[in-house]
Formats: sequence, structure tokens, C-alpha cells
Amino acid sequence: VKGSPPDLVAGALRGEIRALARLLTVLEGDWEAGAGEAMQLLTPHAGRAHVIGVTGPPGVGKSTLVDRLVTARASEASHRVAVLAFDPSSPFTGGALLGDRIRMGGRALDPGVYIRSVANRVHAGGLSRTAARLVTALDAVGYGTILLETVGAGQSEVEVAALAHTVLVVLAPGFGDEIQALKAGILETADLLVVNKADLPGAERVAATLRAEAAPRGESGAEACPVLLVSAETGAGIPELVAAIRERDEARSSGGGAERRRTRVRWLLEEAARDALWQRYARSHAGPLAAQTLRVLAGEIDPESAARRLIDEDLGIDGEGDDGKPDS
Ligand code: GDP
Repeated sequence: VKGSPPDLVAGALRGEIRALARLLTVLEGDWEAGAGEAMQLLTPHAGRAHVIGVTGPPGVGKSTLVDRLVTARASEASHRVAVLAFDPSSPFTGGALLGDRIRMGGRALDPGVYIRSVANRVHAGGLSRTAARLVTALDAVGYGTILLETVGAGQSEVEVAALAHTVLVVLAPGFGDEIQALKAGILETADLLVVNKADLPGAERVAATLRAEAAPRGESGAEACPVLLVSAETGAGIPELVAAIRERDEARSSGGGAERRRTRVRWLLEEAARDALWQRYARSHAGPLAAQTLRVLAGEIDPESAARRLIDEDLGIDGEGDDGKPDS
């Protein structure tokens, strides 16, 4: 496997797994260091995959459930499945983790299945953008289903989940307290609420709580989010879950979720523009930034006023002239 982004893209498009792994590493890196070139080559090939987010507190059984979903989807003829596991604590990346291979059993060796761990902390401030790049690559090289497994309910999980066409929020008996915590953020991003460990007592009660919480929502504003009881361990309820996911995939193919997709693309664009703008600004304004830092340190000015002053000076605006109206 040669190393230039075009070589890696070509190799990955031919189905070479080693090229794909190296390509994803390039995409996790700086835009100027090859990620940008690779993205421009990959994007024309992408746009078909169904992206599924799987999120929820640690211990509810996400990994076990993802394993089930992978098995269900990969058993379909010629359907390839990729899993991106976002691990907030892991310093490792690259997908060759022993844990993943053990976790996924024989699946890790299935040529139709690709599993990769993504360490959150190497992407400070840009996890969702990194995730979007990796999804584009996996989509481009032909993975029809891409599962994004995230842990927790923090902002970066919400953002990664927002990349998905279909978001599964997973809970389980014994995690009832988590429902309150989830309510604020990720619960309202759910398309399907999954109560795992239905083989344990208390699963019905969790489902009932969720049904009460899952107020009518969605693009039409009419439908409540479905709550499904499953057991990733025994396999109970998995066919129904797979069917519900397939239904969403079919709705997407016939134009469903267009509004959400527009919102998501707009948001990714804004994030990327903000970053690009800031990088250029910081590079060319090191002096003024240092000067304002000293003024804030000396207590002469608060950080927000200093920031506004920097920007206003640069845009040639006198003082606080922003009345919220566009310039005529
Ligand atoms: P994650 O942290 O959300 O990825 O959870 P894991 O998939 O690692 O599962 C956490 C624990 O719950 C493991 O010990 C699993 O064996 C167990 N588990 C997963 N699914 C089920 C289930 O459906 N029923 C029961 N009883 N245990 C389960």
C-alpha cells in the first residue's frame, strides 16, 4: 500500500482493507496533510449508505446490540456493514483493537464487516467533523450500513448522532435514573428508543417511562418516537428492531428526512466555516491576540469585550455597531 491520498483512495475503492485503514487515519488528521485531498476524491462516490447512530449510557448493552445488528445486516447477500465505535476514554485509534475483535466475535474476520475504534480525545473540538469524514469514506467504498456507536450523552455524542439518518437511543433496566439525564440532550434526537435486556425484570417499566417521555415529535410533529423492547443477549425483539430500521432506510430512499438532512448539512458547513475562518484569523493576528490576552489578564477588559474589539477592528466596524440587522 502506497501512502499518498490518491493512492489510498484508489486502493480503498478497490476494496483493499489496508488501504482503507490508512485512508481513515489520514482523514483523522489535518485537512492540509491529506484529509482535504482525500475528501475531494471520495465525495463523488458517497451518498448511498444508511447511517445509524447507536447511543446510550455505558453498560446498557450497545456493543452487544451493535453486534446483533451487524450480524443481521451482514447476513444479507452482498451487504457490507461498517462500525465506528467512538470511545471517549481510549487513547487508541485505528480499529485493530483486540477488544473489538473479541467483542465482535467472528464478525471482525468477516470480509463484509469493517470495525474501527475512534478515540475521542485525539479529535478535541472536531469529533463530529472527523466522524463525517470517516462516514463519507466508508460510504464511498461501498459499506451500505454504517453504525456509529457512541458512549454517553455529552455534546459530542449528540453531534455524532446528528450525523446519522437513524438514531437509536438504548436504555436498560437499572438505568432508569439515566432517563432524566438523557432527557435534556440526546433523547429528543432519538428516532427509535430501544430498551435492551428485556430478559431482565424491570424492562417493561423502563419502556413505560420512555413511552410517557417520548412526546409526539418528528418532522410532521405528529408521531411519537417508537419504543422497542429487545434482548441483545437472547435475540428477542431483534427482528422487529431490524425491520424498524429497514423501514426508516426505505423512507429515506423515498425522500424522507430531507429537512433533517438539510439542517445537518447546514450545521456541518457552519462548523467547518467557523473553524477555517478562525484558523486563518489566528495565524495572521497573533500580535493583536497576544495584546488583548494581556489586557484581559490585567483586568482592563473582559474576554468577551476583547474578542468583540478584535473582530470589530478587523472588519473595520466602529465599536458595538451590531444592531442585528444585515448591512445594507
Ligand atoms: P455497552 O457498554 O452499552 O456497550 O454494553 P455492553 O454491550 O458491553 O453490555 C454490558 C453488559 O450487559 C454485558 O455484560 C453484556 O453481556 C450485558 N448485556 C447486553 N445485552 C444484554 C441483554 O439483552 N440481557 C442481559 N441480561 N444482559 C445483556
